[in-house]
Amino acid sequence: MEKYLKFRKELEKLKVYVPGKPIEEVMKEYGLTKIVKLASNENPLGPSPLAIEAIKKEALSVNIYPDGIADDLRIKLADYYGINKENLVIGNGGEQLLFLIAQALISEGDEAIMANPSFALYDISVSMMGGKVVSLPLDKEFKHDFKGFINAITDKTKIVYVCNPNNPTGNIMTKDEVEYLVSNIPEHVVLVLDEAYYEYAIRNAEYNDGLDILKKRPNTIILRTFSKVAGLAGLRVGYLISSPEIITEIMKIKGVFNSNKVAQKAAIASLDDADHIKNTVDLNYESLGKMQKFFEERNLYYVKTNTNFIFADMGIDSRFVFEELMKRGMIIRPGFLWGEDNFIRISSGTMEQTNQFLSALKEVLELKK
Ligand SMILES: *Cc1c(COP(=O)(O)O)cnc(C)c1O
Repeated sequence: MEKYLKFRKELEKLKVYVPGKPIEEVMKEYGLTKIVKLASNENPLGPSPLAIEAIKKEALSVNIYPDGIADDLRIKLADYYGINKENLVIGNGGEQLLFLIAQALISEGDEAIMANPSFALYDISVSMMGGKVVSLPLDKEFKHDFKGFINAITDKTKIVYVCNPNNPTGNIMTKDEVEYLVSNIPEHVVLVLDEAYYEYAIRNAEYNDGLDILKKRPNTIILRTFSKVAGLAGLRVGYLISSPEIITEIMKIKGVFNSNKVAQKAAIASLDDADHIKNTVDLNYESLGKMQKFFEERNLYYVKTNTNFIFADMGIDSRFVFEELMKRGMIIRPGFLWGEDNFIRISSGTMEQTNQFLSALKEVLELKK
């Protein structure tokens, strides 16, 4: 086939994403009846009951195309944040929006600066467009190296990505740190602030709210999602907040019906359920607090987190910890995936799941003593 079919050369460098083993397969392989998955930063409480109601209701009319510009949801979000609907575009998850940002901005040879390890889609989306990825290692405290970012900026730099809080490490960049970056990057560079964990992070008074930056710097794009705190990961809905000029360009290429009808209605309903959001974040910090205590008692280092997961150093190979936890019905993410061999990333769970995880981890750590 390669004799006559030529794909874009950018695709040569990309690999097909290999998802984790399906839960059913793991159950069969290890003879388990129940599996707890604390691997994908999903909401352990599920979606809001209001969202479930909206989903059921909307199911009756999925023969009708969605509102292509998601006007109701944009008006709702605009009201929620005190901005205008012209500042918003809805996407098929944050994932689609990251691809759209690269499609709108990156031509061959353009450069994009990002941290490593961070969210993998920045690299993939920029590479796909023929852009050059300039990735700078996190510093000793697992923070973005903003000094390095500023030094790395050239005439070709189009985008600077800041994952705040960072995935997979969970820590935030503070207001002062983001201010320092902002005051040192040229106007022509688009600053992308990925705030997928915004609702968890704003509990920390030091956290930088991207909206404060956007007000002063129109060349800024904020990414948020309904996948995490709202528990709608399976419906795929996220949004960008930016200046109308940038939103208009993204709108041109987003796909006519990119966000679906059910997702739009569920997202609107979840914004009405402040209790669900509060309970989700409360439970999150209770679950993570218990994990932190466990690590502290054993002198295991962890990165201070303001997300719904925690990145912790087990002192032994994460492949071993991952395998042994899986035998005990627990799925987490092993750090070797990000080049941090002894770390694991664990999502918060219900308290029952948290206790189950910690007793399994206790057993696993004792195997290596
Ligand atoms: C989860 C996540 C997103 C977006 O996820 P979607 O489910 O595609 O909305 C974006 N950035 C980071 C860092 C994330 O962890």
